[in-house]
Amino acid sequence: MKWINDTWFDIQEGLIKPFLYVFDPRERINWMYLLSSILLAFYVYRKTKSNLPFLKYLFHNRVWLSKSAYVDYKFLFFNSILKIILILPILSSWKYLGVETGFFLEENLSFWQNTLSQNQVMVLYPILFLILFDFSYYLVHLAMHKIPILWEFHKIHHSATSLNPITQYRLHPLELLINNFNYILISGLLYGLFDYLSFDSIPYTSMLGLNVFTLLFGFFGATLRHSQVRLKYFDFLEGFLISPYQHQIHHSSDPAHYDKNMGSKFAVWDRLFGTLIKSGKAERLSFGLGADDDIQYRSFLQNLYMPFVNIPRRLFRRFRSADNDYGKHQEKAVLNKSTNPHQR
Ligand SMILES: [Zn+2]
Ligand SMILES: [Zn+2]
Repeated sequence: MKWINDTWFDIQEGLIKPFLYVFDPRERINWMYLLSSILLAFYVYRKTKSNLPFLKYLFHNRVWLSKSAYVDYKFLFFNSILKIILILPILSSWKYLGVETGFFLEENLSFWQNTLSQNQVMVLYPILFLILFDFSYYLVHLAMHKIPILWEFHKIHHSATSLNPITQYRLHPLELLINNFNYILISGLLYGLFDYLSFDSIPYTSMLGLNVFTLLFGFFGATLRHSQVRLKYFDFLEGFLISPYQHQIHHSSDPAHYDKNMGSKFAVWDRLFGTLIKSGKAERLSFGLGADDDIQYRSFLQNLYMPFVNIPRRLFRRFRSADNDYGKHQEKAVLNKSTNPHQR
């Protein structure tokens, strides 16, 4: 019976927590970022010469009260509960991985140990974490777009037909798990490496460096990535940092924008892999998967179960085509189709 009580307690905590995000500096909907976002939005509003009053421009019913937005809100609470029940118990395992990585390096590469001073660790650790985590995020995101089975889960984030800051929480639980495993992996390996290089003396203050980056990211409009506010950076800067509007292009239902701007903070990965689009290249946007698919992802429950309908469908289609009398020709056609995960 204890587990029923515990689960009920976790559910209650999960339902309350999103209301506290506004005080949590790690969350993009923290009050400081919301405030800076309102200022940035005002700048964009003045530039675009919108006919709407500013408050209406910010809080338009079409955005905040749309069916798509209600799905976002449900995911916010649902995933908050899952984070407590599923993610939190595994999250601290990055420390275990870090200690094990440190031991492994000490045993196998003892000659390099103690090569970094505390000051060097304080500077290098947050910078390397930022770069490595951003790159791994890009790779995971790329995989979600390019591997058809993963795309079926990532689709849930892209099925939003209007964007508001809560859309960032619209993730299928499996994607939530994958993202957290990625975080555990990078945090653990990097902690182990620096623990080894600094002879077990990573200063606690080195984490402050990370907080500085999070703050900067928040102040420069991270909250507006999922919004109708078209905040663009200078053309030159968009080759290095992903602007909010570039992420909005990532959500575009125009096939020309599929699989583009998959980076989180840095645009260099998109440049390296040829997936970057700058704001000047996309003037009018509509969001979602495209009319045919959007219809299947209108409710919260549809978003939750559709991957489990579509994945067997895809596999069956593959299996049937491989077995087809038309043989290789037919199979090739389907394989070509499935290399583009956006293919309906
Ligand atoms: Zn995506
Ligand atoms: Zn997004």
